[in-house]
Amino acid sequence: MKRTFSGIALLLIILIQSCATAPKSNRTQVDPKAETETPKNVILLIGDGMGLSQISAGIYFSETPSNFEMFSTVGLIKTSASSDLITDSAAGATAFSAGVKTFNGAIGVDAEGRAVPTLVETASERGLATGIIATSSVVHATPASFFAHVRSRRFYDEIATYLSGSELDFVAGGGRKFFTNREDGRDLYTELVKNGYTLHTETLPASAENEKPVILLAEDGMPKMTEGRGDFLPNATKLALENLSAEDNGFFLMIEGSQIDWGGHANDAAYLIGEQLDFDKTIGVALAYANANPETLVIVTADHETGGFTLAADEGDYNAIKPSFSTGGHSATLIPVFAKGPGEEKFGGVYENTAVYEKIRELLLK
Ligand code: MG
Ligand code: ZN
Repeated sequence: MKRTFSGIALLLIILIQSCATAPKSNRTQVDPKAETETPKNVILLIGDGMGLSQISAGIYFSETPSNFEMFSTVGLIKTSASSDLITDSAAGATAFSAGVKTFNGAIGVDAEGRAVPTLVETASERGLATGIIATSSVVHATPASFFAHVRSRRFYDEIATYLSGSELDFVAGGGRKFFTNREDGRDLYTELVKNGYTLHTETLPASAENEKPVILLAEDGMPKMTEGRGDFLPNATKLALENLSAEDNGFFLMIEGSQIDWGGHANDAAYLIGEQLDFDKTIGVALAYANANPETLVIVTADHETGGFTLAADEGDYNAIKPSFSTGGHSATLIPVFAKGPGEEKFGGVYENTAVYEKIRELLLK
């Protein structure tokens, strides 16, 4: 008996010792894997008004496999504003750009109207290159929320002055009329050039090496896809990626498919689907870049759904889809988030739209 006891005691001592040492050796083996990989570059693609039916329509109506099918990490966001259950694009974009729930119409300000730092501003301060691209005017709510701070999305003239004084390295979209012939007499073209920008107001340049381009190719919003916009969005994205990757410190690029929302407001399925397919093609450009530059995280999401868009069967014919709408405004449906690249695992789950900001902040700008 005595021998057995001491045997057990010895066994206990060995067990205790191995328990005491085990976590240490485990830690050195496990930790490097447990630590999240962090990206050098983040590309955030926002399909304005793009709910699950819009994405589904893009998949059904595309002649080539959809780029949405390239993602294996998918989450869902709750998109309400501080003022309303259903958000507009200003509060929706400010949730992404600055991580605050704010009131509808607010651009880069919190619920009390105070300016809040945006991802573009923080990234610039840290020495990263930054860019924005939209198919609306560049002073429209979604892009504006990344560089301006005003209480109303309608203050386009004031938003334009934020852009000419910004640290952005690449800007492309519409909106020439907000920069010249202004009521306040300021010529923002001159101010942009003074601030080191190169202006392009006719066509996309073939290359934008060694310059900070501001590319404004329409008086207000860009033309619709159904009216011949062509490959502006994918081509501007290619140009931006060439331009921004010239910097060694990494970059943050926001690309908006602005007019998916406008097709929804117009209850025009052909308009909407044309914009959705263009956005899908642009995701392909971002994914191709990320494939060649694996330190790049690509995130695709939307601020809200527009139109209450539905892909119901056509009059009971279960072999045909008849796209229809339930509203001329926005809806409250949850919105998908797709992520691919270092840190993508953080984007699974169901969370608030402001968490998109927090995750990017944590991964890119810790
Ligand atoms: Mg927008
Ligand atoms: Zn809208």
